[in-house]
Amino acid sequence: MVLFGPPGSGKGTQSKLLVERLGIPQISTGDMLREHIQNGDGIGRTVEARMKAGLLVPDALVNELVEARLAQPDAERGFILDGYPRTIAQGGVLLELLDRNHAEAVVIHLVVDYNVVIARITGRRQCPKCGTLYNLHSRPPKVAGICDLDGEPLVIREDDREQVIRERMDEYRRQTSPLIDFFRESGRRLYEIDASRATPLAVFDQICGLLDCEPVISHDGHAPQP
Ligand code: AMP
Repeated sequence: MVLFGPPGSGKGTQSKLLVERLGIPQISTGDMLREHIQNGDGIGRTVEARMKAGLLVPDALVNELVEARLAQPDAERGFILDGYPRTIAQGGVLLELLDRNHAEAVVIHLVVDYNVVIARITGRRQCPKCGTLYNLHSRPPKVAGICDLDGEPLVIREDDREQVIRERMDEYRRQTSPLIDFFRESGRRLYEIDASRATPLAVFDQICGLLDCEPVISHDGHAPQP
């Protein structure tokens, strides 16, 4: 499943709900890249400046990361892509990978107003340890500034700062939004959901209504018996 939409459309939140329901992994290229930055490795050093500026990182680099991640055993029965593909070139690589593995794709496009996105992202806070996302307006932590799950002080992601958001939105408009037509023309299942005003759970219900949200893997880690 490809979760598609601008920054702040709720891809991360929906991914986490879908992971719980479907029992398949979330693959977030943004999270993977942030991990490399945190580790201070070669990939991290290559991408850090571009990410901080709100610019996309090179296609070849993310394609390689995704290809390696999809080869992991936990992705065998399916996966949720969050933040990938983001360019036509990435879309082409993904469709090739899926075809090679005889895998089907379902694309969920979360449609949101520009102003809603700006308001959402500026209120966003994240736990640097477990990655849980909060929002000062719609999903505040129980104790201000502290993660409910592990007590870690919450942070504003570098690329959620207001001046960077407009750059990210521009990148989305220029490089990513043409993928909608690309998916449509490739004949993949593509659904659009208005995610501007609905609560995260209402959006999740709509996604489940569109798909047959039966778990792909049961809690014991095996595929459910027919
Ligand atoms: P995200 O957490 O998905 O909003 O991604 C944060 C940042 O990581 C983006 O603004 C880009 O700089 C970079 N990034 C994440 N995914 C991709 C991708 N598929 N292609 C290029 N850059 C990406």
